[in-house]
Amino acid sequence: MLVEFYRSSDMYTLVRPTRGLVQARTNLHKSAMQRRSVDHPRRVTTTRAVQREPTAETIATLGQLDGVCFDVDSTFCQDESIDELAEFLGCGDVVRELTAKAMGGNVLFQDALKSRLDAMNPSRADVDRFLIEHPHILSEGIRELLGVLGERGIKVFLVSGGFRQIIEPLAEQLGIPKAHVFANNLLFEDGGGAYAGFDPEEFTSRSGGKREAVMHIKKAFGLETIAMVGDGATDAEAKGEGGAKLFIGYGGTVYREGVAERADWFVMRIDEVTSALKGL
Ligand SMILES: [Mg+2]
Repeated sequence: MLVEFYRSSDMYTLVRPTRGLVQARTNLHKSAMQRRSVDHPRRVTTTRAVQREPTAETIATLGQLDGVCFDVDSTFCQDESIDELAEFLGCGDVVRELTAKAMGGNVLFQDALKSRLDAMNPSRADVDRFLIEHPHILSEGIRELLGVLGERGIKVFLVSGGFRQIIEPLAEQLGIPKAHVFANNLLFEDGGGAYAGFDPEEFTSRSGGKREAVMHIKKAFGLETIAMVGDGATDAEAKGEGGAKLFIGYGGTVYREGVAERADWFVMRIDEVTSALKGL
């Protein structure tokens, strides 16, 4: 498995150009440990290794799962919808700058969301056109995983910092109930459909919202053991007291070292999860 991982990482691109956006990618086979061993040899032992294989504890938890929550952008789907929508509306650069500013400082998630949406000012018609011109691209292996989860009676939820208007049509196509979607809700003015803000009551509109969403899901659906699957720090935060029992990190679209290190199990392909469930 490890050999296969390294071999496949040789083909993995370091730079991924997307519509003028160039995302710096981490070279997977230069692990944090390897690089720090050159730059800061004394810190080697403090670096947490990335858990690329499920531990016995993870396998046991997989066997108990009654729910799985998927992040959507760059996890369930290959696209990053806020960036794509911003590009579509001709303000990709401005929004990217705001995103970078938010990630570099102590900006609350809700403030970062507000500033980016204010810059985009998306009308209902804009969002409708975007949906037609930019259908979601599912990540490879998602359909097969959904099949296995269905066979095992494990409920599926989508928990996203993206927008209901963009995610709900996809959920409907896949037979995921609307009640299983937790995402931000864009508000529009009656009549003309001009942008009128977002619903601050949605869990995912605030910092720490993904864990709150998982806590709500457990209570509302009577579930006990939930896994969160995602590529971002907000997904890793869903694990913890009252939240998800397991955090499965996914690096097949975007690899984030900090997230990889926090994951109970870090996968590069969705079918790694599918195979583990089939092998239970
Ligand atoms: Mg994501």
